[in-house]
Amino acid sequence: MDSATFRLLGHQFVDWITDYRQRLETLPVMSQAKPGDIRACFPKTPPAVGGRLKEVLAVLEKDVMPGITHWNHPSFFAYFPSNTSYASILADIVASGLGVQGMSWQTSPAATELEEVVMDWLRQMVGLSAAWTGVIHDSASTATLCSLLCARERASGYSQNSKGLQSGEAPLVVYASDQGHSSIEKAALLAGFGRNYLRLIVTDDVHAVRMDLLKSAIESDLAAGLRPCAVVAAIGTTGTTALDPLKDIAELAKKYHLWLHVDAALAGTAMVLPECRWMWEGIEASDTLVLNPHKWMGVGFDFSAYFVRDVQHLIRVMSTNPSYLRTAHDGEVKNFRDWHIPLGRRFRALKLWFFLMDVGVEGLQERIRRDLRNAQWFKAQVETLKEWELMAPVTLQTVCIRHVPEPMRGDEAALMRHNLEIARQINDSGKAYITPSVLKGRQMLRVSIGAETTERRHLEALWGDLQRFSSEE
Ligand SMILES: *Cc1c(COP(=O)(O)O)cnc(C)c1O
Repeated sequence: MDSATFRLLGHQFVDWITDYRQRLETLPVMSQAKPGDIRACFPKTPPAVGGRLKEVLAVLEKDVMPGITHWNHPSFFAYFPSNTSYASILADIVASGLGVQGMSWQTSPAATELEEVVMDWLRQMVGLSAAWTGVIHDSASTATLCSLLCARERASGYSQNSKGLQSGEAPLVVYASDQGHSSIEKAALLAGFGRNYLRLIVTDDVHAVRMDLLKSAIESDLAAGLRPCAVVAAIGTTGTTALDPLKDIAELAKKYHLWLHVDAALAGTAMVLPECRWMWEGIEASDTLVLNPHKWMGVGFDFSAYFVRDVQHLIRVMSTNPSYLRTAHDGEVKNFRDWHIPLGRRFRALKLWFFLMDVGVEGLQERIRRDLRNAQWFKAQVETLKEWELMAPVTLQTVCIRHVPEPMRGDEAALMRHNLEIARQINDSGKAYITPSVLKGRQMLRVSIGAETTERRHLEALWGDLQRFSSEE
């Protein structure tokens, strides 16, 4: 492709994205495609001759769009918000345009140094002390894996440099809530702890980890000759945004010398509001923390923020280049390839920079407050009707509900079918998208609020549809 064609097509594609965003609200939120539908639109063999990029726009419209679920739709209430702001789209274009690999300072000093700058901005924005240093990861899943690897290596005295998992020492144990994200389980398994040594602690009525059970689990493991190693606290569980009692967990971690990782992937964004910071009281006593600006904040995927207090330990675990450590110690430059698993890294710092230049911290705070108010409004509607139940406290932007018609009360199987059917009707209608999910054996409807474009009227429409489908069903 020559430059003139790139310029022409580039403008066309930006126009296309803009038109898409403008008509987003008119599209069915959840893709109605059936398995194989999209695959069948494409030839089985690659294009033999090029020069056909001009055809792509039409094919995008006709064959790709039907297979898209519109995560930035104002009536997207499924999973979690995945806000990809205009500003971050532009930053992604610039990052791709520059096409740099920022694995070390030398490979593009600006990629490293702008990352230092924006991660320090983010640290300040969520009220963390200067004892924390941040690095951008692709996802919370890999950040949590890194954290548990660091936990393993601290407890084992850097066993990876000798016998690793084969050293024959007593097994190390990891603790987390039974409401923790699946990435915690995955990280513990991939880090080699073994399922037998992962304790998912039962939670209380508000779905926070039970401290009495956590303590007794640690003590019985100690009595059995095992080595309690790490605890992962969830600040905002995936199911209900429950808050584990971080301050108490931190005290326990200190007493038993446990590594403490905090998973605030979604809820971390709320800490931009000073009035929400009580939710993670105790954070300064933890070792590592992950939060995802690529969820509710507005920075498009991928941008996960991993904060650590002991940078040297992280580098000692993640770097395979001992000579490099000397540069790290002098503190002059950072080589971020030694701060996580991949070597290569995109220039993702641009996204947070552009985003903040566009909305400012105050603009972001206003939007988060709007979402919190919308969630409280929705909760208040649910409370006005006897047949609707709240399944969990509404701490942030997630509202967990179910419909309980009088004749079905107490019949969990019937309630499950009934609520699944409501979710199916909502989602098939294309007007909104919610997630049916099971909380401790009980079927619920999860309404996760916080797309950039979601206003009160979208929630009013959803509430109307929920009532209509629940009474028709
Ligand atoms: C979304 C989420 C994750 C996983 O995030 P990825 O960045 O997709 O790996 C982990 N924990 C919690 C609490 C989450 O909400």
